[in-house]
Amino acid sequence: MPSRWEKGHPYAWRTRLRGRLPWFLIELGVARKGYDCQAVGARHHWYNIDDQWSGCYHCEVIREQNEERTTYFGLYSRNQRARVIELLASLGVRSKFLAVQASEERLRAWTAWDESSATTHEGFELWICSLDLDKLGTKLVELYPERKFGAE
Ligand SMILES: [Zn+2]
Repeated sequence: MPSRWEKGHPYAWRTRLRGRLPWFLIELGVARKGYDCQAVGARHHWYNIDDQWSGCYHCEVIREQNEERTTYFGLYSRNQRARVIELLASLGVRSKFLAVQASEERLRAWTAWDESSATTHEGFELWICSLDLDKLGTKLVELYPERKFGAE
């Protein structure tokens, strides 16, 4: 197992603090997880959630195990997800969305923050079947040119 306490990891201090702080300070966000290690140039440290999904100790990112079979394509709002489902269906691309609760910071980073939504912290992680990437081409990037694809 990789060390959770890697020296110099920008979020490691929060992971350490969460083990020692009273819960109400954690609720206040004092030691909240960072929103994405990779966005700040660091590596994720994975732990097993339920044999299908892994979570990162330091940030909010989760991923599917056996990830060589799927490629991560970021976080979407409910409205954005509807457009993506339409696009992928028209191309015959296999994919999977996972509903998550995400911080405003991370949703904004993916342009998935939706003020008009009743459930603003709701987000949907998208994985696309790696065998279908040729069918997809650059169509998803063209749909959301403002997104930071390639961060993962
Ligand atoms: Zn992470």
